[in-house]
Amino acid sequence: MASKFCVLCGKTDVPLVDGRLCAECYVKHRLVVETPSEVKGKMCKLCGSMWISGKWIKPETEDPLREYIWKLVAPRTTVDRLVKTYEISVERLWRDAGNRTHAVILLTGDLEGHRFEVRKDVLLDISKTLCNECMNKKTGYYEAKVQLRFKEKRLDEDKRAFFESFITGQYTGALTNVIEGKEGVDYYFASKSAAKNLIASFLAHYSGAEVKETFESEKVKDGKRMAKLVISVRL
Ligand SMILES: [Zn+2]
Ligand SMILES: [Zn+2]
Repeated sequence: MASKFCVLCGKTDVPLVDGRLCAECYVKHRLVVETPSEVKGKMCKLCGSMWISGKWIKPETEDPLREYIWKLVAPRTTVDRLVKTYEISVERLWRDAGNRTHAVILLTGDLEGHRFEVRKDVLLDISKTLCNECMNKKTGYYEAKVQLRFKEKRLDEDKRAFFESFITGQYTGALTNVIEGKEGVDYYFASKSAAKNLIASFLAHYSGAEVKETFESEKVKDGKRMAKLVISVRL
């Protein structure tokens, strides 16, 4: 039986990862790690939402830019089939002479007990813009208006606070404006379904409310009749 040794460094006391090289030599000379040289994307400059596969996705971390770079780069990274465990992180960002931003991607892994690090440079083409939600908030766009009114004909802060405790999550996202008056509060929502669902979940916890749905300022857009939904809720 032929003695096994690394054909590059001659070591005999180590496992040969591909039958010819020790892990150290393999990492140095043969390891395949491929990342895209450039990634494109767009991010919301207000909330950090990331444009991924045709949708705006809210960030999950405190550092949306790094999170986004990771999400753009990691799925397009190819790592040598001999490497079973590895991690990808964004080590740092830097600007080149042309003022373009790059990310240094750090891949750390383990090959037969030999730890290794590989750094790759990725050019970033990430434009800062506004996501739909932030754009709607900025322009005050709305499809539905919820008019909160009170049987006493004046604003009741306790009832209002209870009503507003239902405006969370997706409803907060769809809420584009709030206007307070003497008799009540108007809430503007970018989607009719958000307003309807909010009222439904509120009514499941509040009895005795008078609810009326009407439409206002109907107009025709792209051949479709568009009217704003007005839901009046009297508590
Ligand atoms: Zn070797
Ligand atoms: Zn946004």
